[in-house]
Amino acid sequence: TRYISVTGVQTCALPILTGLPNRAYFDHRLKALSRAQDGKATPLAVMMVDLDGFKAINDSFGHPTGDLVLKEMARRLRAEVGPGNLVARVGGDEFLVLCRRSPADAGGTPSALAQRILHSLSRSFTLPHAVEVKLSCSIGLVHSPEFGPPQRLLACADAAMYAAKRQGGSTFAVFEPRMEHDSREELALQTELRQALARNELVLYYQPKMDARSGLITGVEALVRWHHPVRGLVMPGVFIPVAERFGLIGQLGDWVIEEACRQLATWRAQGLRMRVAINMSAYQLRQDSLLPRLARAMGDHAIEPSQLTIEIIESVLMDDAAVRSFSGLASLGVGLSIDDFGIGYCNFALLRKLPVKQLKVDRSLFTDIQNSGDARSVVTAIVQMAHALNLRVVAEGVETERQRDTLLALNCDEMQGFLFARPMPAEKLTLWAMEGETPPVAGGFRPSLFMDADPALQDD
Ligand code: C2E
Ligand code: MG
Ligand code: MG
Repeated sequence: TRYISVTGVQTCALPILTGLPNRAYFDHRLKALSRAQDGKATPLAVMMVDLDGFKAINDSFGHPTGDLVLKEMARRLRAEVGPGNLVARVGGDEFLVLCRRSPADAGGTPSALAQRILHSLSRSFTLPHAVEVKLSCSIGLVHSPEFGPPQRLLACADAAMYAAKRQGGSTFAVFEPRMEHDSREELALQTELRQALARNELVLYYQPKMDARSGLITGVEALVRWHHPVRGLVMPGVFIPVAERFGLIGQLGDWVIEEACRQLATWRAQGLRMRVAINMSAYQLRQDSLLPRLARAMGDHAIEPSQLTIEIIESVLMDDAAVRSFSGLASLGVGLSIDDFGIGYCNFALLRKLPVKQLKVDRSLFTDIQNSGDARSVVTAIVQMAHALNLRVVAEGVETERQRDTLLALNCDEMQGFLFARPMPAEKLTLWAMEGETPPVAGGFRPSLFMDADPALQDD
């Protein structure tokens, strides 16, 4: 058999940083190998490898450190892929791998190679000053010649990589035709989302937060939904990632701020001094325009800062620029809350310094709490730590009475979840408050949420 080297002769200019060839060279090799030899094209596999969360490293530790990480990742990739196969760097944190598909090769099958890459790239890595970081990557894998000409292979690998990202990253996905459909779908969704913003198809639903002991409503969280003319009610889990990927999240976030403040003013006119929590992504926090925007919306609708809370997920604490803006928000006087606490990275040193008021414990930490000692220990530790730092603990996603009872016994301050109330349109919440139509489990609204309440009962 004729041996065809996948790497070819490396004559192209090598970028200095990683020492890996670039996309032009990769394309050239892929085309050359895809040309049929003796009527038979070499069976190949192409992988798109994208680091998960690399941006946070760059933002938190600076570009020189980001470069160190990239170099190390490139070194590990090359080591796994071996001398017979090709690795190229094709974007900031994107790499392409080209390998022959014969399982008899020393490298094994492409899937086994993808598995080894995942493993190798997720090993922890020590930065200068003994800072340890652990990254992961998402890999899209496609086999040729089944999936067509070289240009198409790259698009397929890309679609498969996004499928891996959609599963939460740190995994690999083998291309299937439906994935291309998914990425087309995503593109369509993006176009429609632009229109939705213009046509006012977004709505905010509100889910109450209850005081754990009294069962009274202490405030609500605004959760965005999209009333799509054809698809019906679309959930944020579907379109927020699309908005983030296509640069629409800033505009969407601005709409949410404006709408939440407008609703607060409407409630006030009805005699209800509500408190609303707004969710924000790291991207929004990095925008310089956020603070003036929020200040203006509060001014326009005469909203007091104590009526607003901003919820961010804990991994945002890895992002320097976002953290600075977080502190700026606190200076406006709005409350700050860490969402989905306990499932991402968290920087405890920062948590001590930041003006955070609330931790929301992610439901995955207590789903099985009634019969798991581990779950109880974790929640107990979080509650103790939070109380020591003067933070209120909200258990989010409480679905059963047993969960509620256990969480109450463990001293959680507030609860939120389907057990008490699902997210609902503003009018429905108003009905509860106005018509005395009390929520099924909860005990009603905190007196401080009404304007005419006795000031002695006002709490914060
Ligand atoms: P989140 O902020 O952690 O919101 C909690 C999610 O859990 C909501 O999903 C809520 O409907 C759901 N949930 C509440 N109680 C329960 C329960 O008892 N059981 C279960 N299984 N789920 C419960 P939703 O509305 O689909 O929102 C998903 C995520 O989308 C939110 O997670 C938030 O990260 C994001 N999101 C929502 N609205 C916005 C927004 O206006 N801006 C941004 N940037 N993100 C948003
Ligand atoms: Mg939230
Ligand atoms: Mg959450």
